[in-house]
Amino acid sequence: MNPEERCQHWDICGLERKENEGHCILHSSQSKTGGEARLVFQQIFDHLTGKGHTNFQKVIFPRGFEIKAKEFLDVLDLRKTVIENKGILEFKNVTFQKGFLIESQDLGGINILEHCTVVGLVEIECRGRCGQIMSKGSIFHNDLNIKSPDAIGVISIEETEIRGKLNIQAKFISNFRANASTISSILDIQDCMFGAQFDLENTKFSPESEINLNSSYLRDCGISLAGSSVPPILRINGLIVAGQVIFASPFSHPPMKIFAETKPLQLLASEEQISIKNCDLSECCLLGNNFEKFSLANIQWLHWNPMGLSWFGRDILKDEVHVRKTGNSLKIKNLRESYQILKEQYQRKGNQLQAGYFHYGEMEMRRREEGRRRRYFSLEFLYWLFSGYGLGWGRAVGILIFGTLLASVIYWLNDIYDPGHGWSYWLLHSIQVGTLQRPELVPTGNVSKWTQVIQSIWSPLQIGLFVLAIRMRVRR
Ligand SMILES: [Zn+2]
Repeated sequence: MNPEERCQHWDICGLERKENEGHCILHSSQSKTGGEARLVFQQIFDHLTGKGHTNFQKVIFPRGFEIKAKEFLDVLDLRKTVIENKGILEFKNVTFQKGFLIESQDLGGINILEHCTVVGLVEIECRGRCGQIMSKGSIFHNDLNIKSPDAIGVISIEETEIRGKLNIQAKFISNFRANASTISSILDIQDCMFGAQFDLENTKFSPESEINLNSSYLRDCGISLAGSSVPPILRINGLIVAGQVIFASPFSHPPMKIFAETKPLQLLASEEQISIKNCDLSECCLLGNNFEKFSLANIQWLHWNPMGLSWFGRDILKDEVHVRKTGNSLKIKNLRESYQILKEQYQRKGNQLQAGYFHYGEMEMRRREEGRRRRYFSLEFLYWLFSGYGLGWGRAVGILIFGTLLASVIYWLNDIYDPGHGWSYWLLHSIQVGTLQRPELVPTGNVSKWTQVIQSIWSPLQIGLFVLAIRMRVRR
């Protein structure tokens, strides 16, 4: 072929140019939507694909063009393509052995229908508003990447199996649904705003899958992850939701682990319910929400155990870790109120142990609310010190034993008027004083007298705290 007869994109298509034009029929910008031009376009396209051609860069496709019942052995390259009138490009029953790339400013949408099979990587990049990206009844063996710096109208993935990652980077998605599809790896839609719909009903999640919605914003809809299949991992750091929230893992499954390590889930509509069932919230910040609206069941909280001794540990909200570090007074107050509500909820359910943990948290925050000075010189401090806010039976009994021993040592060392009594005599004396048994009075010095007075007041109180702490543990 004479070089003058070649299409300007000859390196891509290898075709001759049309009469009076610099381009071939594929690259021509003349309308091909109707009549003969469309037919010719189809013939040339079929001819090239029949020869195994897969590079269709810069081609201008007629509106509503269908690529049907074909197999591409190499990467189908549709970069810088145009669909006339921002139309839709449709794949039906196509097999891609190496995946495909499409990057376009003029793409109304892309439909992948009727049992398409994609073995390689898929990259869809659209600029300007893209109407829809749909897939139905297809299989993606590798990653499916959808990118748009602007808005996408609808992303609908139905009855589709995605074995690789599904990455979606878009500014705004009006409707997102993945009904009756299978997600085997990561569904990653971070930093995206959603419009009227975010629907994962009947989506099947494999045990290796996870959803990442970090920093996303469900502006006009809620989120429901419930039913027979939920992902084992859900990331929602900084997620904002305007509607209802339901996170419910089936009770026969291990709990769904929800991550919001630094930025709590934020619910905009205060009247909407939030339901969390069989979930692990040990890494999930929730502070700032109205816990009255929470319906909780089988929750795994963060077990905080600073001493490394299991009987000192307690369940806390992940937020407490941050609040302790920052000491922000507003958050301390907020956390105290949250603990109070959680305590009451667990009390209503009859779960006294869990209620006790949140009672401890509530008291701990109350003590911190008082400021640094009152933190160590307050009634709450003494309550904490002597009985761990009425929960630490081990601490209460430990202090009781220590106090009784200390008193006996004081009596023994001050044994000046009638020396000769052994140490065990004074221990018995100390126990008798501590239990108000009025031991026979021995003439002793002032220090011992004062010790007797203080011990006979303190010891029964401490026994009382011990009994209360035991009762807190075992009552129903
Ligand atoms: Zn050409």
